[in-house]
Amino acid sequence: MPHKVELPYTRFLSPEGQLLGELPSWADDFNLLTRLYRQMVLTRLFDQKAVALQRTGRIGTYAPTLGQEAIGVAVGSVMHTEDVLIPYYRDTAVQLMRGVRMEEILLYWGGDERGSDFAEPAAVQDFPICVPIATQALHACGVASAFKIRGEHRVAVTTCGDGATSKGDFLEALNVAGAWQLPVVFVVNNNQWAISVPRRIQCGAPTLAQKAIGAGFHGEQVDGNDMLAVYDRVQAALERARHGKGPVLLECLSYRLGDHTTADDATRYRPADEVKQAWLEEPIKRLQRFMVGQGVWDEGREQTLISECQGLVQRAVDNFEAAGIQAPESIMDHVYARWPESLAGQREELLERAARRAGDSSHE
Ligand SMILES: [Mg+2]
Repeated sequence: MPHKVELPYTRFLSPEGQLLGELPSWADDFNLLTRLYRQMVLTRLFDQKAVALQRTGRIGTYAPTLGQEAIGVAVGSVMHTEDVLIPYYRDTAVQLMRGVRMEEILLYWGGDERGSDFAEPAAVQDFPICVPIATQALHACGVASAFKIRGEHRVAVTTCGDGATSKGDFLEALNVAGAWQLPVVFVVNNNQWAISVPRRIQCGAPTLAQKAIGAGFHGEQVDGNDMLAVYDRVQAALERARHGKGPVLLECLSYRLGDHTTADDATRYRPADEVKQAWLEEPIKRLQRFMVGQGVWDEGREQTLISECQGLVQRAVDNFEAAGIQAPESIMDHVYARWPESLAGQREELLERAARRAGDSSHE
């Protein structure tokens, strides 16, 4: 039998939004709960729009965050401005909370480099989206070791999916984080599927959180569909790392309600019943039911919020579409500090072609 290490698991709300135990005192702040809820709704509406833009050919491949809004919103809420996010490709929710603009996210997925050049000062030191699986976990350790060497009370926060935890890069990152006791938090979004590979055959360990134990630091699990539980545990993890108590691996149990990306069709490998069941556990409805039960949310507020968020999303789409196309040579702009002589010809050729095309179109 696989060896299960007993680790903490946190859940405050049932899928029906019922309180299962005592809430931490911070949860008495209904303004905070409203902000968290609002941000999940905004993320979901933006996500739907991004998928629609891909389907109509206006952006490239997009990785939907549908069903995993609570994890991203929790991470983005508890990070301090001076902390650094080292994200993966399913982090729309966190990026929005860090101040990355919706139009920047659309530019990125539209293949435009300007989408990774964040205008928001608080997000300037955050890393761009990492597409290669798990390499960002090592980048995070590099960032965290810089914080440690400089004696700064900052945390490197990195995110990844369940599949990434099987990669050598991830395990090497855990190793160095434990060996050097780095101020880094690994947030694993265990959404049960690594493209078409289900969690049960992905890895023999009963939990992904227990991988931290082998590396010599704290790991725990949380219900990733319970906004209150994730917020609480991400906050505790960041405080621990910030105060020199070492790294944390937080495994957030969730479900990928959408396709892996817009280039995938999950109906080809995933049972419909499983997805139907997962919808009953999703995070937005759960927090909404709790807030309605507490008398702090109602249908009127819901409708106002939806129309406000739809307005914000539409304005972002308008800004994205007004951004125009980048100059072709921009793909070479940030590759080298000084463009190498050996590649000078390629750059000139590109400029000549662009000039020729501009000339052609002006004679049309
Ligand atoms: Mg996954």
